[in-house]
Amino acid sequence: MEGRIFTHPSRDLSMTRMVYHAKEGDFAQLSKISSPDWHPDTGLHLYWGDIHGHTELSDGRGTLDDYFGFARDEAGLDFCAVTDHDHGGVGRPCLWEGGKWELTQQKVGEYHHEGKFVTILAYERDSYPWFSNLCLYYRYGAGELVRGEEDGQITADEWRQLLAREDIISIPHHTADIRQGVNFTAIPLELMPLLTEIYSKWGTSEYFGNPRPLIFEARGGHWRDALEMGARMGCVAGSDVHLPSPGADSHMGANVPYDEPGLLGVWAPELTREAIWQAIRGKHTIAASGARVMIDFRVCGQIAGSEIKYPADKGRRLALKVHAPTPLMRVDVVKNGNDIFRINTEGASAATSLLVEDLIAERKTDYYYVRVTLLNGRQAWCSPVWVET
Ligand SMILES: [Zn+2]
Ligand SMILES: [Zn+2]
Repeated sequence: MEGRIFTHPSRDLSMTRMVYHAKEGDFAQLSKISSPDWHPDTGLHLYWGDIHGHTELSDGRGTLDDYFGFARDEAGLDFCAVTDHDHGGVGRPCLWEGGKWELTQQKVGEYHHEGKFVTILAYERDSYPWFSNLCLYYRYGAGELVRGEEDGQITADEWRQLLAREDIISIPHHTADIRQGVNFTAIPLELMPLLTEIYSKWGTSEYFGNPRPLIFEARGGHWRDALEMGARMGCVAGSDVHLPSPGADSHMGANVPYDEPGLLGVWAPELTREAIWQAIRGKHTIAASGARVMIDFRVCGQIAGSEIKYPADKGRRLALKVHAPTPLMRVDVVKNGNDIFRINTEGASAATSLLVEDLIAERKTDYYYVRVTLLNGRQAWCSPVWVET
C-alpha cells in the first residue's frame, strides 16, 4: 500500500505536524523520502532475549540446562540470561555456597555460541534499601559475585562503585511495587540506574495508572518518575519467570498476574556477547510484554538510547517504523511524559510507518519514546532519545 506524504499542513506550523504516514508500514517509501538524514541505514539488527529468570539454584524450578535449553530451542531466543537470587529466599542456601555460582558460569559458557545463541552471566542481588533487588549483568562469561559489607543490602558508596563498573550493568525490577520497589524521586541523579525493567510477569512500571499494572503499585517507582527527574534511563523487560520457560507464555500461579514473558529487543551490529551487552548498555533497547514488536524510532536520525544536541528553533524529525506479529491497537509517541501523538489503528494492520516533525522545544532537554499497544493488549516500548538544545 502506498503511503501518503502530507505537503499542506492545515495547522499552525508551530505545532507538531505530520509529514508522512503509511498504514501498512511502507518502509521502502519512508526510507526513500526520509533518507539519508531522517532515517539513515545503521546496519544494526534486532535481536530478542529474556534476561530475567530463576532456576532451582534459588527459588525457581528446573535446572540451568532446562532453562537455557528452553530459551534456545523452544522460545527461539537470540540471547538469554539466568538471574538466580544471591539469597535463595529466607532459609534457603545462597548463590555463593555449594558451587552454584561456579556452575552458573560453567553453563553460561556451555550454552554460549557467538552468532547463534548468546548467554550473559547474571544474578539477582538483594540491594536494600535503595532497591529491593538489582539484576547484575556481566560483560564477560566469568566474574565474582559483588558482595557488600552487609549481605542483602547496598550502601550509597557500594552502589556508586557498582554503577561505575565497566563490566557490570545493574538493573532494578518491578520498581513501582509498593512492597519491594524503588522510590526514584528520592535518588540523586548521579545514582540513578542506567536502565530499568518496566515489564515482567508481575506487571508494568511505565507510569502510575498504566493498563497492565502491578497488583500493588505506588507513585514514585515508575520509569516516568525517573525520566521526569531528569534521569537518562533506558528500558528493558524480563520475565522474572521461576519456571524453566524463559521467553514464552507460562502461568506462574495465582499471585502473578501476567502469563506473557518480558522480552528484550536490542539493536546490535552482530550476535555476539560483546555486541549485545554494549547495545544494552547503550540503551538501544525495546522492552516488550510477550510480543516481538519491532520499533525503529529515530529522532533527527538517531536511534533509541541516543543523546543529541539540536537547536531549539529547528524542527525535530521523528521517524518511526513499527512491525508487530499481531494487529496494532495504537502507537503513541511520548514526549516528556505526555503522549503527544497517537495512531489509532484499532487492529487495521500490524505495521505502520510515519514521519512527524515536532516544532516545539519544551525544556532544556526533551525526551521522546514510543509505546506500542497491540489489539490483544500486549505492549512494547523503546528507550528514549534525549534532545538537548
Ligand atoms: Zn525469585
Ligand atoms: Zn527475579
